[in-house]
Amino acid sequence: MRLLAKSSRDRVSSLGETGLIAAIRRWLGGASPAPPFGIGDDCAVFGASGRRRQLLTVDPVVYGVHIDDRVSPREAGSKLLKRNLSDVAAMGGRPRAAVVALALDGRVAVDWIGEFYRGIARESRRHAVPIVGGDIATLPGGALVATLTLVGEAPGRVLTRKGSRAGDGIYVTGLLGRSLQTGHHHRFQPRLAQGQWLARRSAVRAMMDLSDGLAKDIGALASPGIRPCLSPSLLPRRAGATLREALCDGEDYELVFSLSAGADAGAFERNWRRAFPRIRLTRIGSFVARGNPSAPDEIDPDQYLGYEHFKST
Ligand SMILES: [Mg+2]
Repeated sequence: MRLLAKSSRDRVSSLGETGLIAAIRRWLGGASPAPPFGIGDDCAVFGASGRRRQLLTVDPVVYGVHIDDRVSPREAGSKLLKRNLSDVAAMGGRPRAAVVALALDGRVAVDWIGEFYRGIARESRRHAVPIVGGDIATLPGGALVATLTLVGEAPGRVLTRKGSRAGDGIYVTGLLGRSLQTGHHHRFQPRLAQGQWLARRSAVRAMMDLSDGLAKDIGALASPGIRPCLSPSLLPRRAGATLREALCDGEDYELVFSLSAGADAGAFERNWRRAFPRIRLTRIGSFVARGNPSAPDEIDPDQYLGYEHFKST
């Protein structure tokens, strides 16, 4: 069987990212349990139930997609670990250990790879996550793909993407938009302490990290029967970011979560400011029942396409 399809309709790009993930689920069948134990959340959750659940996540950096010559190899290495740390943060977990699989063209400069691993080492020390192994493979065509697999653990509750209800407030940390233009996509700090803090609060119902843009990602935080009602004026935008950029750019690596309607939101926000005085927290809207009429200035996320891997060309 040939690897590359001749006709465009037989290509993976015709499925789009969502379609490809759905197909992979089908092909795996019973081999893939339902989330959060299988595909579909920021991390997979496994291990004995009880106090210490294990978390598992994997994310690559691909030269030409996530990094290029404008990003120093040290920042590229640091980004590789950090984007995985962001997924552990999204479950309220703490990172434990990582392995790195490297596939690269033999012509890649030794100095480049050296700096890349120094970047990984810097974040590894900063977050006390040892790099405990890896693998190397050859890749032709001047390409480089580094894939990091991260194991974490959740000391208490595992916060998943599921569980939001109508009336819950929607909050986001930090600022959104223009991540690539401003270098935020490699300079960001994963919200590990904040994720753990949020997981300890029972009024926080569901959480995820923002990687593909709020407009696309927020759908994963909604439960059946509810939809996000977001106010454009409330979105915390990075300087110069348009509404579209704040919703669609992706690579924000911020946390978005829902807070129970019954919670004392004022007290919650005050506690946040006390714990994290330098990290902005913004209530950007709420979840409402699907049948509810939409507000006049409400954002319709479907009107804004987030980042779609394998976007059909
Ligand atoms: Mg994620």
